[in-house]
Amino acid sequence: MSDAEPLLAVEDLRTVFHTDREEIHAVDGVSFEIRAGETVGLVGESGSGKSVTARSILGLVDSPGAIEEGSIRYRGEELTDDSWDRHRGDIAIVFQDPGSALNPVYTVGNQIREALKIHQDLRGAAARDRAVELLEDVGIPDAATRVGEYPHQLSGGMQQRAVIAMALACDPDLLVCDEPTTALDVTIQAQILDLLAELQREEDLAILFITHDMGVIEDATDRVNVIYAGEVVERAPTDALFENPQHPYTRALLRSIPGRTPPDETLPTIEGEVPTPTGPATVCRFAPRCPDAFGACVEVHPDQQDVSEGGDDRSAACLLHDDRYPNEMGTGDGTDGGGPDERSVAAAAENTNYGAVDHGGAPPETGVAGDVNGQGAAGGVDDVGDEGGGEI
Ligand code: ADP
Ligand code: MG
Repeated sequence: MSDAEPLLAVEDLRTVFHTDREEIHAVDGVSFEIRAGETVGLVGESGSGKSVTARSILGLVDSPGAIEEGSIRYRGEELTDDSWDRHRGDIAIVFQDPGSALNPVYTVGNQIREALKIHQDLRGAAARDRAVELLEDVGIPDAATRVGEYPHQLSGGMQQRAVIAMALACDPDLLVCDEPTTALDVTIQAQILDLLAELQREEDLAILFITHDMGVIEDATDRVNVIYAGEVVERAPTDALFENPQHPYTRALLRSIPGRTPPDETLPTIEGEVPTPTGPATVCRFAPRCPDAFGACVEVHPDQQDVSEGGDDRSAACLLHDDRYPNEMGTGDGTDGGGPDERSVAAAAENTNYGAVDHGGAPPETGVAGDVNGQGAAGGVDDVGDEGGGEI
């Protein structure tokens, strides 16, 4: 792998679920890169396609879902059904709920030793010692005793540490963390974030950090991708994104961070909810909820526009940044002179596939409505099909 080559390159990824009633385009043209040793965020409300993206990267999309287009390259090598096996362990995943990632009938040590056997061919005393060492590395006190305990004997925070130890037993160089702190209380969340940051420094791990929580993104990531209804709508270095967000959806997510709102005001939320994408995107899927939407937003699909300042690498998929579409915000160049047509944005939305929210045979959805910080989502209603832990 040359220096310029990213560790992971996801390009135009499209993952579709074919249910009895509809096609759900859960991931609809997502592209991003992760370089060795960096933490990249993927942030968006519940139902945006974050977990399906994670599962796609790990080759864990189950029927009726399938990756239908795009490419996922690990160190330059295309990950296909055959090559995923070769990289088993190079990419490990930590899910939201440690309780379901651990098998209740085996001790924590047993489960770590199993991973060590599969991925590092370590057995016997060497595996036993290494399991204790890994539990120490993830900050579990009295590791020599804890290694013999069952998952239910550990608190939620300690269980998540054990899951991280299991992931590390694969000796990965990319750790995909899908809402790793969402099920934990705030103090424990902070400890797990510190642990991940420390592991990253010490082990030179790259991390894909998936969360609905902008506060976590600010603390934990170097670069960030904002995802909405299966599409990345803004990508930027984290500092630049927080300083000067360029997509209306990013701005709405930022307004929802606790602490950024005066204490006597309730947390602003975005009205409405993430639509289920029941077809490929043909227009802006955020338009029906967007305070800045204008006519063209429900007529054309926004491409990524370069919005870099001073050479940073960033883009936003929004017509406000596309000179071809003039609008009252004054960012267009006014060439066609024609404003939006008479249809309201919401009415026009009904004619597009992004308006459909009838889930039919789809699995239970999140129902976190407009609460972008997902307080309503804590406790694990977030994800469809999260289970297991460990590795690809
Ligand atoms: P997030 O992790 O951002 O909350 P997900 O990636 O879990 O969102 O889901 C994205 C979309 O894909 C949602 O509309 C969800 O209903 C749909 N989806 C996820 N898994 C399945 C499945 N197994 N079958 C059908 N639809 C699914
Ligand atoms: Mg999820």
